[in-house]
Amino acid sequence: MTVSVVLFTSDLRIHDHPPLRAALDGSDAVVPLFVRDRGVDAAGFAVPNRLAFLADCLADLEAGLRARGGRLILRSGDLVDEVGKVVAETGADAVHMAAGHSGYAHRREDRLRRAMEAAGCRLSVHEAVGTAVAPGAVTPASRDHFAVFTPYFRHWSQQATRRPLAAPRAVRVPDGVGSEALPARRDVHGVSPGLTRGGESAGRRQFNAWLRTGISGYAEHHDDLPGDATSRLSPHLHFGSLSATELVHRARAQEGAGPAAFVRQLAWRDFHHQVLAARPDAASADYRPRHDAWREEREAREDIVAWREGRTGYPVIDAAMRQLLYEGWMHNRGRLLTASFLTKTLYVNWRAGARYFLSLLVDGDIADNQLNWQWMAGTGTDSRPNRVLKPVAQAKRYDPDGHYVRRWVPELRGLDPSALHDPGQLTGPDRAARGYPDAIVGLADGLARFRRARGRA
Ligand code: FAD
Repeated sequence: MTVSVVLFTSDLRIHDHPPLRAALDGSDAVVPLFVRDRGVDAAGFAVPNRLAFLADCLADLEAGLRARGGRLILRSGDLVDEVGKVVAETGADAVHMAAGHSGYAHRREDRLRRAMEAAGCRLSVHEAVGTAVAPGAVTPASRDHFAVFTPYFRHWSQQATRRPLAAPRAVRVPDGVGSEALPARRDVHGVSPGLTRGGESAGRRQFNAWLRTGISGYAEHHDDLPGDATSRLSPHLHFGSLSATELVHRARAQEGAGPAAFVRQLAWRDFHHQVLAARPDAASADYRPRHDAWREEREAREDIVAWREGRTGYPVIDAAMRQLLYEGWMHNRGRLLTASFLTKTLYVNWRAGARYFLSLLVDGDIADNQLNWQWMAGTGTDSRPNRVLKPVAQAKRYDPDGHYVRRWVPELRGLDPSALHDPGQLTGPDRAARGYPDAIVGLADGLARFRRARGRA
C-alpha cells in the first residue's frame, strides 16, 4: 500500500486543496497531518484569538475528513522532526504541502526538503494554494516582484487561475497512526469576547451569504464604518479555511462593480504576499527607508498605551481600537485611520503598532499586516508616503451619523454627530463628566512634528 502525507499549514480546508487532491490521486492512503509548530509559538505568533480560531478550524477539518472516512492527525513539536516521524511510522513515500511565503516558511521548507531527501521521501510543494496567483507568477520585466499595485493588478487580472477543486468524496487513512487530542476553543484563555467562529463550514456559509447579499453593494459601501459592509472573510483567508482561488472564481462569476471591487481587494492580498516572498526582510525592515527617527516605546509609552486602549480623545480612533480589543478584528477604514494616527500624528515607530495588531488580530498575517503598516507609515509601497489621514474629517465622511463611534465609545452616546467627532467641540468639563479623555495631541502639532521629521517643514 502506498502512503502520502498531506501536511496542512495555512490551508485548513478540504475544498479546493491541491496537495490533498495530489496525495489522494497518487497513493492508496493519505495521512492528513497538522503540526502545532513549536517554531511558530516561539516567534510569538500563537496568540489567543488566532489559537481559538485555529481550534475551530482543526475541529472542522477533522469533521470534514471523518465524514469522508478519514481523520486528522495532530502532532506538536518541531515541524520537520514531526513530519519525519510520521513518514517513518507510516512508510510514506511522498509529502504534499502548500508553499509558504514568509522568511520563516522558506527556511522551514528548506529544512524539510533536506530531511525528506535524507529519508528517501519526495516533497511536493504546491503553489497558489494560499493565494489566487502565486508570488513570482507575474513579474515586471526587470525585477523579481512588483513594487506598485496598479501594474501588478493589471498583470494579475490577466493571469489564468486554476479551476477550484471539489472536496474529495473519500479519504482513506492508514490504521494505527497516533494523534494528539485536538485543541478546543474553550481551553484558550484571553480570547476577545466578540471573536468570530472559525472553520471551513462557517467560512463557506459566510461566503455563500456574502455572494447572495453583500458583494453587490461592496464597491459603494466598503468604507462605511457603521455599515460594516465588508465580507469579514479575512480570518478564513489567513487560515486557508477558504480558498482565495475559489473566492476569485465565484466572485468573477457575478457581474457588477461590487464583485469587481471585491476581486481587486483579493489582488491586494496577493500583491503583499508577492512583495514579502521577494523581500522577506520587509516583515521588519523598512521596504523603502525614509530615515525616520521614530518615537519608540520608552519615550512615547503614554501615547502608545492611550492608543492601544482607545483613550486618545479622538472618538473614531478610540472606537476602532476598542473594536479591535473586543472582536480581534477591525474594519479596514479603522485600520488605516489608527495606523495613520500612530505613525504620522504620534510619530511612533510602525513596528510598535504592527506588533500590537498582531497580538490581537484574528486575521493577523505577516504579509498583510506588516506591509499595510509600512504602506501607512510611508516606508512601504505607497507612492504618497507623506499622506496623513485626518481623523476628524475622515470620521465625518465615513461615520457621518456617528453610529460607529456611539457603538464603541458609549461615554459619548447622546451627543450630536458634529460634537461627537470633533474633540475641539467637547469642552473639558463635558469630557470629564463623561469620563472621556482630552485629546492626547493636537492634530496641527502632530502634523508639524511629522513634517519636520520627514524634512518637509
Ligand atoms: P474585505 O474588504 O471584504 O476584502 C476582502 C479580502 O481582501 C480581505 O478579506 C483580505 O483578504 C483582502 N484585503 C482587503 N484589503 C486588503 C489590504 N489592504 N491588504 C491585503 N489584503 C486585503 N489584512 C489581513 O488579512 N491581515 C492583517 O494582518 C491585516 N493587517 C492590516 C493592518 C493595517 C494597518 C491595515 C491598514 C490593513 C490591514 N489588513 C490586514 C488589510 C485589511 O484591513 C483587511 O484585510 C480587511 O479589513 C479584512 O476585512 P474583510 O475580510 O471584511 O475585507
